[in-house]
Amino acid sequence: MQPWIARLGRLRPRPPEIAAALALLGGVGLSVALAFGVRNAEQERARSEFLQRGETRVAAIQRGFTEALDALAANHALFLAFNGQEVGRDDFARFARPLLQNYPYLQAVVFHRLVEDRDRAALERARARLAPGYTIRERQGAHLVRAARRARYLVVDYIEPLLANADVLGYDALSYPVQARTFLRSLASGRPASTVLLPLLQDPGRLGVVLTMPVLRRGLPAGDVSVVLDAANLAERNLAGANLVGRPGMAVELLGPTEQGPRRVYRIDRLDERSTPAWHGWLGDPVFRATRRLAFAGQTWELRMAGRSTDLAGGGAAPLMTLALGSLLSLVLALWIRARVVRGQRVEALVGRRTADLKAALLELRLYRRAIDASANAVILVDARRPGYPIVHVNPAFERMRGFTAAEAVGKRLIELGEKEPDQVAVAELRAAIRERREGHASMRLRHRDRRDLFAEVYIAPVKDPEGHTTHFVMTQYDVTLAKRYELELEAKARFDTLTGLANRALLHDRIDSAINFAGGRGQVWVAAIDLDHFKFVNDTLGHGAGDALLKAAALRISAAVGRSDTVARTGGDEFVLVLPGRAGEGEAADTVRAVLEALAHPLELAGQSLVLTGSAGLAAYPNDGADAATLIQHAEVAMYRAKELGRNTVQFYTPTMNERARDRLALEGALRSALLQDEFELYYQPQVELGTGLVVGLEALIRWRHPSLGLIYPDRFIQLAEETGLIVPIGAWVLRTACRQNRAWQHAGYGPLRIAVNLSARQFAEPNLVREIARVLEDTGLAAGSLEIEITESLVMSDIEGAIRTMIELKDMGVQLSIDDFGTGYSSLAYLRRFPVDVLKIDRSFVRDLPASEDGAALVAAIIELARGLRMRVIAEGVETEEQLDYLKRRGCDEVQGHVYARAAPQREIEAMLRSGQPVRPHMEAAR
Ligand code: C2E
Ligand code: CA
Ligand code: CA
Repeated sequence: MQPWIARLGRLRPRPPEIAAALALLGGVGLSVALAFGVRNAEQERARSEFLQRGETRVAAIQRGFTEALDALAANHALFLAFNGQEVGRDDFARFARPLLQNYPYLQAVVFHRLVEDRDRAALERARARLAPGYTIRERQGAHLVRAARRARYLVVDYIEPLLANADVLGYDALSYPVQARTFLRSLASGRPASTVLLPLLQDPGRLGVVLTMPVLRRGLPAGDVSVVLDAANLAERNLAGANLVGRPGMAVELLGPTEQGPRRVYRIDRLDERSTPAWHGWLGDPVFRATRRLAFAGQTWELRMAGRSTDLAGGGAAPLMTLALGSLLSLVLALWIRARVVRGQRVEALVGRRTADLKAALLELRLYRRAIDASANAVILVDARRPGYPIVHVNPAFERMRGFTAAEAVGKRLIELGEKEPDQVAVAELRAAIRERREGHASMRLRHRDRRDLFAEVYIAPVKDPEGHTTHFVMTQYDVTLAKRYELELEAKARFDTLTGLANRALLHDRIDSAINFAGGRGQVWVAAIDLDHFKFVNDTLGHGAGDALLKAAALRISAAVGRSDTVARTGGDEFVLVLPGRAGEGEAADTVRAVLEALAHPLELAGQSLVLTGSAGLAAYPNDGADAATLIQHAEVAMYRAKELGRNTVQFYTPTMNERARDRLALEGALRSALLQDEFELYYQPQVELGTGLVVGLEALIRWRHPSLGLIYPDRFIQLAEETGLIVPIGAWVLRTACRQNRAWQHAGYGPLRIAVNLSARQFAEPNLVREIARVLEDTGLAAGSLEIEITESLVMSDIEGAIRTMIELKDMGVQLSIDDFGTGYSSLAYLRRFPVDVLKIDRSFVRDLPASEDGAALVAAIIELARGLRMRVIAEGVETEEQLDYLKRRGCDEVQGHVYARAAPQREIEAMLRSGQPVRPHMEAAR
């Protein structure tokens, strides 16, 4: 941009129109000035043209005069050549004629003869021969008359052309004072002299002059030679002949001398005419005027000239063109300037905005920089575009954290700071992030300059320019050394169960994982899940302190029972998991677990009570039952649940069908919740027969679940589940009420004084208002307490012996009969049995099953019957299927029998049919029926 335009651009306020208008105005002004200049030049040219033409005209007139003088001189020379001798008239005529032809404006060539008065008469006579009546004459107005007598006369003697001038012959020039004075002047000076203008004798309408030169003879004047010039003709011939007149816009005037001053003799005036269009004079059209004086033989002539400028040198086209072109150029210039200014302003505005943006960005940048520097965490900025990723900035936190000063760090490559870093895996991750231009994170140990270890969370992220190219990386290092130490401590704590000091679930997983790694696909790793059977009762009835003490004791016993390389973990309230590596087969693993169960089963003194701990265990093995810790634990637990189902205090190995059962359980659990509401439960009744009479004396109520899609479901599939979910409480209440109502109905119907036996689950037995609930049911149904028999299991009682005894006493006081179900399977000691206010012992069917073949089993059954008798309890055998069993039991003195040998559990109607007879039942009556 040119500087002045730049300056224009900087004027404020400066709408672009002003600059453009200024330029336009200036340009137009300049153009006008230029146009005027051009006009002036034009006019100057016109003036000089005018003057030049004037000179030419003057020269033309002058030439006329010179020619006249030449003609006179030539004529005079003729007389000189005759050297005083008489020049003849013919000689004169012969000589004059060519002169007249050459110079047409010569009116006449004359010889005046000076005649003394004494010679007048002789001359008049002599000339009368040529022209009759000849006399010397003089002017009288416009006519010639006979001259008055004077001393001498200067008469026209020879004159050419004679014919045209014949009238003038004899005219005395001295009679005309004008001529007389001229003659004398010429005589005095010896040079040609001219008259002032005088009317020509030949044509008085015309003016002319006479040019005279005296002729001397022997020193005395003898006359003169003259030429008569027609002034207008002279002017016309010379000017027109040279084409110097007659142009439009011009005027020429020739003035000849008179006594009264100059007088016009010739004029051509075309000043008002134009050779160019009138508008050419738009810038002024001056008329130049000039007057030149011409000296001619003692007289002064004037040539007056006028000329119009436009006609002389063309007109206003050039200035107009100049103006137009100038204005056009100015307009173009103005538009250009406007565009430049507008652009300039835009650029300036843009620059302004950019500058403001830049300032803001700079401020922001400083803020960011301060923010980075204020950060409590180490921040490192590295250049992503240079090899080795040199550090370009570190903040003070970095200096504090790592011990390097900024000056030391900046310019170094990242690797140089990190090469001694111990965590090469983390370093590799960060390098990969840089290579792939992505974010990265690593928890790693860093080394302080003084070689101290630091724990840090290191984040790296690409910094991109607006085009998306990564220009830098920002790395943040969070010093988590303190947190890490704390965490390690916590972890140490977190990996062990605080109560028992055993491994917790997290450590258990680790141990299983490492055992699996160690086994390396060759050996087996056994995982055992152990669940204490009645921990919850202890907790609920003896309090948490007792519960905790129980768990600690259990932990000690379990730990003591396993090997040094085994792991014991507590995974839940009363759940324990063992990791048993290096066992040759399932036998060895099962041995260890059984040893654990036995160790647990030793009586335990707790809060002044003596307890027997029992547990159920499940076993699962790597690699057959699972490839990872979670699966192995889960499968061991499935097996453990199965063990619980099958009778407590046993060990089960995991089998895939268990898993299905486990899934099954889950499905059932959902259905079970709604079963009560949907009225899906039914009671079956199984008769109890008195061996002495063969009469049905009682019935055991056994629950059935008529599932809408699964059909009839037996209690061993859902009672455990109902117990675990707590649903057993409402279900049990329903059973109790239904059974009592039914028994009352049968009694009412006259089927005799029947007892109804109802099973109580552990959960129900723990219900604090159990006794009150039973009392209300009896009251509501109107059943006598003595007609109700409650069946409870040993294990149910064992977890809280004292509590159980209290409940039993309350029930007993009420008049309700009590029965110990499944007798012989638990770990109950006979010592306790004495304290139980129980009416009936029910021999478990597992003992009956082997009767009478198994001697051990038979002996045990006999012992139980003996024991019951000793304690004055009734004894009933269940699961009696054969007549052999029946016979044996009869022989041993068993009181009652329940089993397929008499009747299966059956719905109310079928039972009623059997009761209706009122007759003793016989074995296999059903089958017979
Ligand atoms: P339990 O109290 O020992 O009940 C006796 C079980 O033995 C019944 O099985 C019965 O059908 C079966 N049984 C009777 N005679 C024979 C026989 O000659 N041979 C064989 N092999 N079995 C015989 P059920 O009805 O399947 O009941 C199983 C268990 O479910 C019961 O064992 C009991 O512990 C529980 N249970 C049943 N109903 C209830 C209930 O209403 N409440 C509670 N809490 N538990 C119940
Ligand atoms: Ca029972
Ligand atoms: Ca039983």
